[in-house]
Amino acid sequence: MKRNYFDFIICGGGASGILLLKALQEDAYFSQYSILLIEKEVKNSNDRTWCFWEASSSDFEPLLSKTWDHAQFCSKGIHLEFTLAPFQYKMLRSAGVYKTFYKQAQQAKNITFLQAEVQDVQTLDDFTEIVTSEGKFQSKRVFNSLFNPKLLWNQKKYPVLQQHFVGWFIKTSQPVFDPDKILFMDFDIPQEKETRFLYVLPQDPYTALVEYTLFSEQLLEFKDYEKGIRSYLKTKGITDYVIEEKEQGNIPMTCFPFEQFNTSSLLHIGTAGGWTKASTGFTFMNTRRNIKRLLPFLKKEKPLSSFTVKNRFRFYDLLFLDVLTRHNAHGSELFSRMFEKNHPVRIFRFLDEKTNFWEELKILASFTFNQKIWFLRALYQRLF
Ligand SMILES: Cc1cc2nc3c(=O)[nH]c(=O)nc-3n(C[C@H](O)[C@H](O)[C@H](O)COP(=O)(O)OP(=O)(O)OC[C@H]3O[C@@H](n4cnc5c(N)ncnc54)[C@H](O)[C@@H]3O)c2cc1C
Repeated sequence: MKRNYFDFIICGGGASGILLLKALQEDAYFSQYSILLIEKEVKNSNDRTWCFWEASSSDFEPLLSKTWDHAQFCSKGIHLEFTLAPFQYKMLRSAGVYKTFYKQAQQAKNITFLQAEVQDVQTLDDFTEIVTSEGKFQSKRVFNSLFNPKLLWNQKKYPVLQQHFVGWFIKTSQPVFDPDKILFMDFDIPQEKETRFLYVLPQDPYTALVEYTLFSEQLLEFKDYEKGIRSYLKTKGITDYVIEEKEQGNIPMTCFPFEQFNTSSLLHIGTAGGWTKASTGFTFMNTRRNIKRLLPFLKKEKPLSSFTVKNRFRFYDLLFLDVLTRHNAHGSELFSRMFEKNHPVRIFRFLDEKTNFWEELKILASFTFNQKIWFLRALYQRLF
């Protein structure tokens, strides 16, 4: 007889789903529990390149495709180079992650995989039911990573920007890249009244991932991102290359309180749970951190709705998004001031939510008089 009740159900086997599954599998406490992972696709492709910075090494190390110790930041008239120590910037390709973690999880007797489309997720009494193309399943602990962007468009209280981009993996005929340095942001391109930059991750002197990226409200047509990459490469004298792969992404940047949809038996995770850092779009490391906090929480058997991710950094992100939305044409100036006036390590620690209040004041102090007025106005409007 087909089984319909599981101790844990994870909807979606992308980054957050598979990272949660891995964490549950590696903690002996959870080996007594049945776990179901529902994913509609066969996950084995490089549909994502996940980058993040961290100071220590982790069990991801064997899967990393590249690490960097140095970075550059550019904007009109500004060229900064810096070492990232104590951090390293790290790159993972998703195919390796999916293949390794899925294979690892398939060896566990308590884990079941279901390839099916989730059609509905509903909390009923003290459990949550998932309706799929392959039947209905119930659990008292459901983790849902299926992101529904419509929730964001039906409200006005929280601004929604998108980190949207197209990336080309290119191979050049000449050695043109410095493989030791990433180009974190290069705003020295036409801004077109928005916040636009290039992001370059060199793999070796001949190959790099070059991404044309925007933090803005509206997506572009695919050809416009490509035009941006092509013209950037041309300004750098790079004209002889082949495009080996392409990547496209669109990550929501918002402080919308996704947790309002959690219930005692349902927790939204990953982007669907608001685990994307609202001011940057970085999600991967936040997801790892939240899962690390989630495991001890699960052992206490508390209602899932009491798992909280709110802190003062969320309020900073909210103010930053208010300002960046209203002054999108000036985003490059905001980032330039931050990088010019602060050591990048302080900025990375701030984005990691590890700074103290004094350091946060210093970051605020780095903005120009006008920029400070924008932040104060945003603060006033949020408070009154
Ligand atoms: C191209 C790209 C590059 C990115 N690069 C970075 C980066 O460098 N650093 C960083 O921090 N973040 C990055 N992000 C943002 C973020 O880390 C990723 O989007 C990450 O995959 C989010 O994890 P998730 O689990 O929330 O969603 P996903 O990984 O998208 O997982 C959701 C899963 O649900 C499945 N699914 C969807 N609907 C259904 C359904 N109805 N039924 C069953 N299954 C369903 C999907 O197939 C998918 O596998 C990137 C995003 C993209 C798109």
